[in-house]
Amino acid sequence: MTDEQTRVALVTGGSRGIGRATVKRLAQEGFDVAFCYRSDETAALELEKEVLEYGRRVLSRRVDVRDTDAVRALVAETESELGPVDAAVTSAGITRDNPLVLMKDEEWHQVMDVNLDGVYGLCRSVVFSMMKRKRGAIVNISSVAGVYGNATQTNYSASKAGIIGFSRALAKEVGRYGIRSNVVAPGFIDTDMTSVLKDQVRDKALESVPLGRLGRADEVADLVAYLVSDRAAYVTGAVIQIDGGIAL
Ligand code: NAP
Repeated sequence: MTDEQTRVALVTGGSRGIGRATVKRLAQEGFDVAFCYRSDETAALELEKEVLEYGRRVLSRRVDVRDTDAVRALVAETESELGPVDAAVTSAGITRDNPLVLMKDEEWHQVMDVNLDGVYGLCRSVVFSMMKRKRGAIVNISSVAGVYGNATQTNYSASKAGIIGFSRALAKEVGRYGIRSNVVAPGFIDTDMTSVLKDQVRDKALESVPLGRLGRADEVADLVAYLVSDRAAYVTGAVIQIDGGIAL
């Protein structure tokens, strides 16, 4: 598989944050890109324009990743409009923080449904076509919370740890078909997700980051672009942290 042949990427949660930066980066790298989002149509349409300006084809749809049938339909539409999916990236994710003692069932289930079922849904929908073509790269966005756990985030940490187990199992299952499955585990990245944190929480988190700043979405997108490229042809089952050294 050469970079020249790798043409179509599909990104969940592409309208904002890390997903948005990834859509842009992959378009710059020469991919035609499909992406989905949950609600922010204005942001999605702006991004479509940017991708077109890079000279790439683009398709965006409002698809909730909890709806497996809708995700399957998105993959089918992407394949018929843009071509078979070479790179699948799952960035759609949410937080519903609460200490476990106060956690509501709906907070638990919402996070598991979006973060973990969403990963299952996209990967399940693309894998057979990738197996038939004996090529494909999957990158699932986890979190350092999935590696180390984070207080008030038992739901989020469990979903993100689940993504790691899922992605490694998949790497073992489909490596022989030329498909790679990797995980990116970001630390604190400057997006809408972290902008809602209180200053006090942000400052405390930054104290534990040796590089002394939040990461940027485009820095995460660079790593994703590397992982779906042939430069990472021998990388699979990896969990790569991009966290400014937060875990040291
Ligand atoms: P963000 O800025 O809040 O963007 C989230 C994106 O996911 C948006 O495009 C949103 O669509 C989409 N989305 C949410 N729920 C969805 C659903 N049910 N179906 C389809 N799309 C949905 O988040 P982010 O910071 O970029 O985070 C991206 C990923 O990185 C997440 O998986 C997150 O857990 C992970 N992560 C982030 C950080 C961080 O510090 N930011 C750290 C570690 C891991 P709408 O715009 O339509 O709402």
